[in-house]
Amino acid sequence: MTGSAAAREGGAATGVGAALDELRRAGLLRELRTLDSAPGARVRLDGREVLLLCSNDYLGLAGHPRVRAAAAEAAQRWGAGAGASRLVSGNLALHERLEAELAAFKGTEACVLFGSGYLANTGVIAALAGRDDLILSDARNHASIVDGCRLSRAETVVYDHADLDALATALRRADGRRGLIVTDAVFSMDGDLAPLEGIVELARHHRARVIVDEAHATGVVGPGGRGLVAELGLEQEVDVVVGTLGKALGSYGAFAACTRQMAAYLLNRARTAIFSTALPPPAAGAALEALRLVREQPTLLARLHANARTLRDALAAQGLPIPPGGDPTMPIVPLVIGDPHAAMGVCEAALADGVFAQAIRPPTVAPGTSRLRLVATAAHEQADLRAAAVTLGAAASRAATLS
Ligand SMILES: *Cc1c(COP(=O)(O)O)cnc(C)c1O
Repeated sequence: MTGSAAAREGGAATGVGAALDELRRAGLLRELRTLDSAPGARVRLDGREVLLLCSNDYLGLAGHPRVRAAAAEAAQRWGAGAGASRLVSGNLALHERLEAELAAFKGTEACVLFGSGYLANTGVIAALAGRDDLILSDARNHASIVDGCRLSRAETVVYDHADLDALATALRRADGRRGLIVTDAVFSMDGDLAPLEGIVELARHHRARVIVDEAHATGVVGPGGRGLVAELGLEQEVDVVVGTLGKALGSYGAFAACTRQMAAYLLNRARTAIFSTALPPPAAGAALEALRLVREQPTLLARLHANARTLRDALAAQGLPIPPGGDPTMPIVPLVIGDPHAAMGVCEAALADGVFAQAIRPPTVAPGTSRLRLVATAAHEQADLRAAAVTLGAAASRAATLS
């Protein structure tokens, strides 16, 4: 039966209702919460002020006065929207300035803007791999990478998370096909780092291409927040570094940093860049100002790292199961609960005490690993992070007694 035939028989309506019921029973129903304030360490949520502990606004720039002013100025100077895709009439001098600044920041020759990180990953991956190629993708890569792999129609081997032996084994099976390795630099739900040096070495040996997604590395790790690729000096070894403007850079949009030749290729082959309206001027203007702030104020990054350390230490002091090892300055701290109902329980209990850390459940994370994905930012006060850890410790033990 085709989809439309199912709909005519009433399958669509009951199917949708049944699907929602099923999600609710499994503890996996997703619902929106409403914020009624500007971004910051504290926000108004459902009419109450709460400490925000789950945003990706790592440097607190989304609400920074200079970034907001730059967005407003860009709207006045360039308009609210770009009016067309870049290859038609939407390419503004503002976009090119932002691309030049991002390339300089990432240490690459060139850069191509995209509408979002989701569009960048799907577009870049599908541009660089086709039916006859082999993609090698880390098991914990972001959903936009997973979708890019599907869109490319290439055979995709998902290798065990951060496992270089598994990657090497998969590459040996390429059988003359061209390989494309794709990985997050900082994994979004665990905050751990990809073994990039080993990945690049394998890529060199097997003549495979490499795409690194620095969504959570840009503005967060490396010298001056330039990312993990820059920290390891691998700019020449990585074919495309993808980054978003929507996280540490406090705006919206994304980019692919690469060689001039690769940039020209992406402008001809990345369908999500070609067939989509250019980035709105306020988003571009805001990102430019955010980059300027990252360069001018190294204290932002220092504060982010100090706050990350404080949050980790405070959670550990509450006896909460914080993953050992790793980099203590990484702001993403997973508090893994396991069961999705239980994770929602801890989330709601913490929220009742003024700490907002949304529970993250499958399919965003693997079954059995539902969690509170806690994020420290440069905007937090250390005392608030310590108090939040106490609240979370109490919420977790309350939920444990109830279950
Ligand atoms: C958030 C995220 C993206 C998507 O970026 P957007 O600009 O929000 O669309 C891509 N990759 C990773 C690893 C992410 O965490």
